Amino acid sequence: MVDFALTDEQQQLRALAREFAAREIAPKAAHHDQSGEFPREICRKAWDLGLMNTHIPEAYGGPGLGVLDGCLIAEEVAWGCTGIGTAMEANTLAEAPVIVGGSDEQKRRFLTPMTKEFKFAAYCVTEPQAGSDVQGIKTVARKVGDDYLLKGSKMWITNGSVADWYFVVAYTDPAQRYKGMSAFLVPRDTPGIEVGKKEQNLGQRASDTRAITFNDVKVPKANLVGQEGKGFLLAMTAFDHSRPVVSAAAVGLARSAMEHAIRYAGERSTFGVPIHKHQAVAFLIADMAMKIEAARLLVWQSAWKIDRGERNTKEAAFAKAFGADTAMETALNAVQVFGGYGFSREYPVEKLMRDAKVFQIYEGTSQIQRVIIAKEIFERS
Ligand SMILES: Cc1cc2nc3c(=O)[nH]c(=O)nc-3n(C[C@H](O)[C@H](O)[C@H](O)COP(=O)(O)OP(=O)(O)OC[C@H]3O[C@@H](n4cnc5c(N)ncnc54)[C@H](O)[C@@H]3O)c2cc1C
Repeated sequence: MVDFALTDEQQQLRALAREFAAREIAPKAAHHDQSGEFPREICRKAWDLGLMNTHIPEAYGGPGLGVLDGCLIAEEVAWGCTGIGTAMEANTLAEAPVIVGGSDEQKRRFLTPMTKEFKFAAYCVTEPQAGSDVQGIKTVARKVGDDYLLKGSKMWITNGSVADWYFVVAYTDPAQRYKGMSAFLVPRDTPGIEVGKKEQNLGQRASDTRAITFNDVKVPKANLVGQEGKGFLLAMTAFDHSRPVVSAAAVGLARSAMEHAIRYAGERSTFGVPIHKHQAVAFLIADMAMKIEAARLLVWQSAWKIDRGERNTKEAAFAKAFGADTAMETALNAVQVFGGYGFSREYPVEKLMRDAKVFQIYEGTSQIQRVIIAKEIFERS
């Protein structure tokens, strides 16, 4: 039987995240957008409440919650501010490959501390010349005795300057292409790591995005995740866990934009009636409501599948592409509903429009999601 009802625990979790977003995030969103200040204290409070690192298994000190649980939190947090949400959620992406492919010892060394102390981690795959085309990365890990020497530059690394450790993908055997990539866990205080300046981004300005350069950084063999040659697979598998969560955040942003549009459409009058009485405006909002609901269903489906232990690559790509496009379209149309005031930085919707754009870019662009969907249709069925 199909059941869309949440359990009592899930409803409580959602209520906790909703209340946190309304009290701690939304009132400070504009400040962090304008200043670009990293929201450390807000994240700390979220960590104290148990709203971060929720997928770390109980055996390693975490709550062992499912991907759907993570999505419920992400939607609410993102409703408050997706820049702050991205700062909170980047750990999920860095931790996922360790949960999937790390050894027991690595999980104790890298995951358990995340549950005992307030810490960040970062996922380092993209490079200045290679994002969608992961095989185009140039970073190499050269074996020297029992260690590897990591050399290369990563780009666009979320939480790059605040992370305690990095999940890094590098070539151990470039001739093997994607089968020659390996993954490493690299503590931030290892000598030879250079952290770049904070990127001045269009939106989600609270989050910290940096270049990270590895100058012959010595990484012990004990920090190789899985075996040599498994790096690409681990990096991609992480997306099956994280894309539903990122897509839930896109839904949260869209919901916020729609709520602002609904409120404004009731307050603003033209030609003697509130603007929602004009069908052209009402239909914009009807489309927002319909697409948000559809996006959430795709998010929940993709999360539900992976929580059941089923492959969800196609469904996660559906959720990511549709969720990101819905966030962008909804925010854009919310600006339209606000008219001239939508264009003003003193009103909330222009920020949502700027913040929405990156959902179509990070964790695989909207084009790449369609490439994945097409591959799943033509090569797997
Ligand atoms: C704010 C932010 C945070 C990020 N955080 C992280 C992070 O924490 N860790 C990390 O590793 N990366 C991170 N990224 C990087 C992000 O994942 C990449 O930017 C993204 O994958 C796109 O890669 P690219 O920028 O190199 O664009 P490109 O790959 O150069 O793509 C350029 C354009 O070409 C299109 N394109 C490329 N190939 C194809 C194709 N085969 N078919 C159709 N269209 C195609 C793309 O869709 C895009 O429109 C972040 C990026 C941003 C902006």
